[in-house]
Amino acid sequence: MDMFSLKGKVAIVTGSSTGLGQGVCKAYAEAGAKVVGADYVPSAETAKMLGGDFHSVTADLMTLAPIPGIIARAVETFGRVDILVNNAGIIRREDAVNFSEKDWDDVLALDAKTVFFFSQAAAKRFMEQKSGGKIISIASMLSYQGGVRVPSYTAAKSAVKGITMSMANEWAKFGINVNAIAPGYMATNNTAQLRRDKDRSEAILDRIPAGRWGTPDDIMGAAVFLASRASDYIHGFTLAVDGGWLAR
Ligand code: NAD
Repeated sequence: MDMFSLKGKVAIVTGSSTGLGQGVCKAYAEAGAKVVGADYVPSAETAKMLGGDFHSVTADLMTLAPIPGIIARAVETFGRVDILVNNAGIIRREDAVNFSEKDWDDVLALDAKTVFFFSQAAAKRFMEQKSGGKIISIASMLSYQGGVRVPSYTAAKSAVKGITMSMANEWAKFGINVNAIAPGYMATNNTAQLRRDKDRSEAILDRIPAGRWGTPDDIMGAAVFLASRASDYIHGFTLAVDGGWLAR
């Protein structure tokens, strides 16, 4: 199944130090790609796992300022860019009635604004290379549902699903595939607080048809598929990897 190979491809993955982003880096390296990981903390563990297939850039993506430098670093190090994964994300939990402007702005900045402008920068690069390319953003169940105590996260992840379609509409003709992956409830730092809350944790688990929380390994297949030639005619779609949560 050569159509799933990423041999010769170069990927940028944001939020590469841990969790789902680390899983995506591992999947891409295993599929044959070189990976540049961008994170506001050093991706030391990922670098140790992947050796020469991985290059770590430390950059805070709360602002757009580091984006051109990350793309330049990928080109300097590995010669080109073929794949962007917008994975870095944060969540803030508070009752809607007490939710602060800062918790709104911070989450929207990283989880929505950076996703759009990093995608725009990657699309420009793909157009210059005349190569086409793949843009994959990490959405959420809250791209479909309202959630509880996470209004800015719901706003941002709903935006990710929407802009995935809007960018796909404009860039498909350049051979650029823009898609998203909506993970269900995955055991990472993002959900640590939720998993510590016994009642919420049990209620969530009860509702997952697969009967377990997901892990970073669970999104490896979808991430490789959407980055590979096998998905060349898929545009603007958000693929749920959720143990059946949305089907319930
Ligand atoms: P995580 O908190 O373990 O990972 C988030 C990553 O983003 C980390 O590597 C972190 O260092 C990085 N990051 C945070 N702030 C950053 C910044 N300012 N600049 C650069 N990098 C920054 O959580 P995760 O679950 O692996 O989350 C990855 C993505 O998946 C996020 O977009 C998250 O919203 C999404 N997601 C997670 C779940 C889940 O259940 N865990 C479900 C749906 C979507």
